[in-house]
Amino acid sequence: MSLKGKTAVITGSNSGIGLGVAWELARAGANVVLNSFTDRDEDQALASEIASKTGVTARYIKADMSRGDECRMLIERAGACDILVNNAGIQHVAAIEEFPADKWDAVIAINLSSAFHTTAAALPMMRVAGWGRVVNIASAHGLTASPYKSAYIAAKHGIVGLTKTVALETAEDPITANAICPGYVLTPLVEKQIPDTMRKYDMSREDVIRNVLLERQPSKQFATVEQLGGTTVFLCSDAAEQITGTTISVDGGWTAL
Ligand code: NAD
Repeated sequence: MSLKGKTAVITGSNSGIGLGVAWELARAGANVVLNSFTDRDEDQALASEIASKTGVTARYIKADMSRGDECRMLIERAGACDILVNNAGIQHVAAIEEFPADKWDAVIAINLSSAFHTTAAALPMMRVAGWGRVVNIASAHGLTASPYKSAYIAAKHGIVGLTKTVALETAEDPITANAICPGYVLTPLVEKQIPDTMRKYDMSREDVIRNVLLERQPSKQFATVEQLGGTTVFLCSDAAEQITGTTISVDGGWTAL
């Protein structure tokens, strides 16, 4: 599979799944644009490392995905966007009655509204280029719920709905839109939840991983960022040309339960 000559913009890609997806797209030949809201030497260094190890062009563009104007600016500054991976996301865990309204707004803005803005800016470029792929990183929580994650689950169900609408609006164009629904992946987003859970249940790290985090993941294994990158590359392949408006679970059987 060669994506040579294609440009991929991956939101929230200086860490975790986004970075893993960027690596796999670069290994498949795509030029990549990394993004986050920070402006650190390490961010630029990630792009340099991808470029030097894979031979593609890799850039880092700072843009805050909680702001619609910056989402659109990211795509404009990228200059081309054949593959758009909407990945930026945050989590906040609290019961609805205690859920801070500003956290609700931030989760909805970063995990859902950003994808509306980037997609609106990218689709005209894809139409001109005559080819395009929108890949939204949703979650098993886009298909099923858990308590205390109301904003995240609303945003992830929302992005699955947005994916279907984008697919219908591009159905007759050589553009597809799909959502990948990962189960648990051991990234900084999940790592942050472990110490609190260890304290809360007085459990070891291993017990938290097996009995709490992976409780609903029948394989009892984390999905990996490389597997999610590989799934994204597949969705960009010719074999996936007629796959649009759907979800692909990479969740060790979670949503089969
Ligand atoms: P992570 O914390 O490692 O990465 C999140 C990325 O989003 C980081 O690069 C961060 O800088 C970026 N980001 C956060 N706020 C931003 C903002 N305002 N503007 C721009 N970038 C911003 O987490 P991750 O686990 O890699 O999560 C990536 C995506 O995968 C998220 O959408 C998450 O919901 C989804 N996901 C993760 C898991 C999991 O188990 N890790 C499971 C299902 C879905």
